Amino acid sequence: MKLATKLIHAGIEPDPTTGAIMTPIYQTSTYVQEAPGKNKGYEYARSQNPTRQVLENAIAAIENAQHGLCFSSGVAATDAVIKLLEPGDEVIAGNDMYGGTYRLFTKVFAKFGIKFHFIDLQNEETLKSFINKNTKLIWIETPTNPLMNIIDIEAVSKIAKANSIITCVDNTFASPYLQTPLDLGADIVLHSATKYLGGHSDVIHGCLAMNDKDLRDKLYFIQKSCGAVPGPQDCFLVLRGLKTLHVRMDRHCENGIKIANFLRNHPKVGKVYWCGFEDFPGYEIAKKQMRGFGGMMSFTLKDDSVDNAMKLLTSTKIFSLAESLGGVESLINHPATMTHASIPREERIKNGLSDSLIRLSVGIEDVDDLTEDLKQAIG
Ligand SMILES: *Cc1c(COP(=O)(O)O)cnc(C)c1O
Repeated sequence: MKLATKLIHAGIEPDPTTGAIMTPIYQTSTYVQEAPGKNKGYEYARSQNPTRQVLENAIAAIENAQHGLCFSSGVAATDAVIKLLEPGDEVIAGNDMYGGTYRLFTKVFAKFGIKFHFIDLQNEETLKSFINKNTKLIWIETPTNPLMNIIDIEAVSKIAKANSIITCVDNTFASPYLQTPLDLGADIVLHSATKYLGGHSDVIHGCLAMNDKDLRDKLYFIQKSCGAVPGPQDCFLVLRGLKTLHVRMDRHCENGIKIANFLRNHPKVGKVYWCGFEDFPGYEIAKKQMRGFGGMMSFTLKDDSVDNAMKLLTSTKIFSLAESLGGVESLINHPATMTHASIPREERIKNGLSDSLIRLSVGIEDVDDLTEDLKQAIG
């Protein structure tokens, strides 16, 4: 089955009792048993829920995976992956990533004795120099948030495999429409389904997909033991979002190309970070591992000051100033004080995330209105 068909049909069967074509929201905490242990495979809704199960199967299908697992948020899914580790284990992660992931690693898990190294994953030699016998996990975000760096998933996974290290790819920015990391050798793929998968800015949700049964069983154990499961209503909303992912992504990509070029050609705009430019450092790898460049991009103004950036951020009329991304509506964001405020300034600046950087999540509105809006806001 091709992706567009899977997005609509994979994992989904008409409701067995009524034939309802849409997956029902099984709003229940428990299930009646005939005798202790004699049941229909459902005992308690933290462990099993039919709405969630359908979504988990759909997520697995669209990521070309054998197994899917859903969580109450993207960070809850990240949290589950890190709980595979033990004190003394080491993680190598990219040095440009979602601020909440950085916060979870450094402020929550570091104190349990897990060591995190944040490095430039674009450089294979640097990566190899950080690998030792305690390295258990490589954490990849690509394109990175917010600088749009491209990490070669296939190359990093190969190095990881040779050293018996698990690779997890946060695929939130690309979505499975543009990139399927398991096909490139990764072991686990993660989504903040809050973003493109849900697609309508109306739900917080996270998920994982993997092929290895043993890994799935360990993560399922963590899911039910730690309890960060999504409610059935949230699963329903993500299921509903998935059905139009391909259509939305096409428009995000189409608008993305136009907005990126508009910005690049604007006399007052400085640097534009978008992986679809042929002279962008990660372009060749992006072209190889992605099927389009998406609607995420960042930029600075030529007259590069925080004041000027702030003026722009508060002048748009269609782009809403808000955290998050991947919804149908366009958003504008100031990473330094919003999505990436939890990364220490020194660390941020060192990795190229300046105080004046502006990030866009280009939505699926009419692109002429979006360019007009940016034009009037840039002035
Ligand atoms: C938003 C985001 C997360 C966290 O997901 P939540 O659903 O907000 O918990 C993780 N990774 C990336 C790339 C994100 O953009």
